[in-house]
Amino acid sequence: MTTQDADVLIAGAGPTGLMLAGELALAGIDVAIIERRDSQELTGSRAGGLHSRSIEILDQRGIADRFLREGKVANVGQFSGVALDISDFPTRHPYSLGLWQNHIERILAGWVDELGVTIHRGREATGFAQDDTGVDVALSDGQSLRTQYLVGCDGGRSLIRKTAGIAFPGWDPTVSNLIAEVELAEQPEWGVRHDAIGLHGIGRVEYEIRDGEIVYADSGPVRVMLTERQLGAAGEPTLRDLSEAMIAVYGTDYGVHSPTRISRFTDMTRQAAAYRDRRVLLAGDAAHVHSPDGGQGLQTGVQDAVNLGWKLAQVVKLTSPESLLDTYHAERHPVAARVLRTTMAHVALRRADERTAALRETIADLLKVDEPRRRFAAMMFGLDIRYDLGEGHPLLGRRMPDLDLATADGPLRVYTLLHNAQPALLNFGEPGGFDITPWADRVQMIDARYDGVWELPALGAVTAPAAVLIRPDGYVAWVGEPTESGLADALTTWFGPPAAP
Ligand SMILES: Cc1cc2nc3c(=O)[nH]c(=O)nc-3n(C[C@H](O)[C@H](O)[C@H](O)COP(=O)(O)OP(=O)(O)OC[C@H]3O[C@@H](n4cnc5c(N)ncnc54)[C@H](O)[C@@H]3O)c2cc1C
Repeated sequence: MTTQDADVLIAGAGPTGLMLAGELALAGIDVAIIERRDSQELTGSRAGGLHSRSIEILDQRGIADRFLREGKVANVGQFSGVALDISDFPTRHPYSLGLWQNHIERILAGWVDELGVTIHRGREATGFAQDDTGVDVALSDGQSLRTQYLVGCDGGRSLIRKTAGIAFPGWDPTVSNLIAEVELAEQPEWGVRHDAIGLHGIGRVEYEIRDGEIVYADSGPVRVMLTERQLGAAGEPTLRDLSEAMIAVYGTDYGVHSPTRISRFTDMTRQAAAYRDRRVLLAGDAAHVHSPDGGQGLQTGVQDAVNLGWKLAQVVKLTSPESLLDTYHAERHPVAARVLRTTMAHVALRRADERTAALRETIADLLKVDEPRRRFAAMMFGLDIRYDLGEGHPLLGRRMPDLDLATADGPLRVYTLLHNAQPALLNFGEPGGFDITPWADRVQMIDARYDGVWELPALGAVTAPAAVLIRPDGYVAWVGEPTESGLADALTTWFGPPAAP
């Protein structure tokens, strides 16, 4: 008999793999991560923060404060350089949080560690073979690990995706950028420059936000982002590449020296044709890559993880059939497809010619009008996602707002109920109106009162529901009255068949 090393193995301890490991561990699954890097240290500069929905997701697990305490909040996001104010949005977190990815990963890794997840660091997944009962994952040290399910969270060049033979259709890059953290001997031209080559920027790594404006520190390392003249450079970028690109744009390299990070990124835009091949799944950059414009990649990956975690946990525990995993692709593929489209629009809008500049200004005018501003901001902050769960109340398939409820045991925030990633049925009608005994081992049942307005981002006020069934990822699976049919079906669909009496 083959022994199993973990119920679920995750390749990659980036933000997606870490979040997924946390979700699975919370659900009581034996999960381990295989990570190529020796430590959580990042070599390239990457994401600059978290947007509103990602912060809500972390709040649902009771860990948002760990991030908020270290970052800087701003009520504005942007669409292709146009500021979008969300201070009036109906969320507890109507802002984005400026926090570099190395800190996001460090904090997530700390949480995952508390949950007892093993991370096999300094080991690389080099291949796998799956059969009817599990997956054997080959490692760079010659060993292999056996698991029931393997999730590739191993980034854009995903070996897991390639080995699974999952197609990655999309668009080749049209623009290449260098990004680096360096020291400069001379005072540079701070801020953003838009010229015939493209978009460039120089700023200090450390900054504050005062009255919604970024104010850079007076000293410390400098972050440089440059558009390269040409596409297709091979190999890792060097200080010399950076210096030459700076001279091409600014006429000087400002005495650039002592780089701690230099990396290259492009607007290559691709998405996995399938997020699952039997016992192998993909999440995060392994499933979708695109330009960083609009800061969507990490958010999408972390939210993939939160969509997949509880479903995979239920399948491993045999409370739900394997078909539940099909809803992961069905729900998350369209979300990333829209991100791909939006980022392609961003890239097109930052082109340097006069006609594109005119188009940019036109879009900027449009986004000053309230309705488009609300819609685009809700999209950019991840607050308008609706999974297609059929027709019905506007809440169906949308994120549950974090309401302040009154219960027999005192005040209760909705997101507190989700800290352990357990589903909940909230009854706003007659106490005791629902009997969900056959699911009582899996679903929390709470009689509550809420007298405020039910308001959803971009949609506005909606009718108060009599009851809502909330999934562990915070999306609403069912809305209705005790007298309405459908609740038993929804409970079975999402949380498995009723327990035998
Ligand atoms: C310049 C830049 C700016 C960005 N800005 C933003 C932003 O502002 N907001 C935003 O949301 N996103 C941004 N992104 C995107 C964001 O960085 C990525 O979307 C995010 O890192 C994806 O997380 P991931 O965990 O899916 O993949 P990754 O972060 O790529 O993590 C993959 C992990 O897998 C490991 N690995 C790879 N192969 C193997 C293997 N075979 N075996 C074991 N381990 C393996 C890697 O070492 C790595 O730790 C930016 C990206 C860039 C390049």
